[in-house]
Amino acid sequence: MVVTRFAPSPTGYLHLGHVVNAIYVWGLARALGGRVVLRVEDHDRIRSRRIFDTALLEDLDWLGFVPDAGRHPVRRQSDDQSVYAEALDRLRAGHHVYACDCSRKEIGGGPYPGTCRTRGLVEVPGRGVRVQMDPEEDSGDLLLRDRDGNWTYQFAVTVDDIRDNVTLVIRGEDLRSSTGLQIRLGGMLGRASPARFLHHPLIAGPTGEKLSKSNRDTGVRELRAAGLAPADVIGRAAAAVGLLAQGTPIEASDVARLFPNPG
Ligand SMILES: [Zn+2]
Repeated sequence: MVVTRFAPSPTGYLHLGHVVNAIYVWGLARALGGRVVLRVEDHDRIRSRRIFDTALLEDLDWLGFVPDAGRHPVRRQSDDQSVYAEALDRLRAGHHVYACDCSRKEIGGGPYPGTCRTRGLVEVPGRGVRVQMDPEEDSGDLLLRDRDGNWTYQFAVTVDDIRDNVTLVIRGEDLRSSTGLQIRLGGMLGRASPARFLHHPLIAGPTGEKLSKSNRDTGVRELRAAGLAPADVIGRAAAAVGLLAQGTPIEASDVARLFPNPG
């Protein structure tokens, strides 16, 4: 069975970009007879806020997008740190995992040059942890845990997709470049067959820039306050990526019909 996920980060309020992702996630899951897992990606303990966490669940409820496993309790990355620690140990068994004390500034904007690969540093707070990638990734050896002790997005999301048995990852075009990396990391973590990845278009702003969370006319809460119904908001998001004609409302329970031939 197809299992996909809706996995927002509680670092801001829901906007039309999230609604586009929800349309693809729920629409394709329903069209394929699959299931949707809801996961709150709060691996970044510094940027994640409770107020956004609460708000995104309220907004999803209001829109009518309901995950199949229910959400009581909600799955959060912060719930169980031992999951990532265990995954790290699994990696250690077959791969070169090492401590790194390079700052972001020292590495600069380019790929990580492997400075600490053979230094034999002890893993202590204040140092990051990397795994040697083979073949080498464009970005160098992958950072798994940063110097502040946060599990990185790439590591946490790959571990969670294995844990949740996600078979189809549906996400925006902007994340396409990390697909190969996540598939390789999944294999290194013992995943037998990789998830399929599907990338959908993003809403661009008036001048072609990626939709920003600060755009007042794209926030779900702002649109609701302006008097729009859930079907209006979903219709507006669908139209913004060409799934519907402008101005056509559509209910969350009906989005599968936007994907008549899901293959
Ligand atoms: Zn280093």
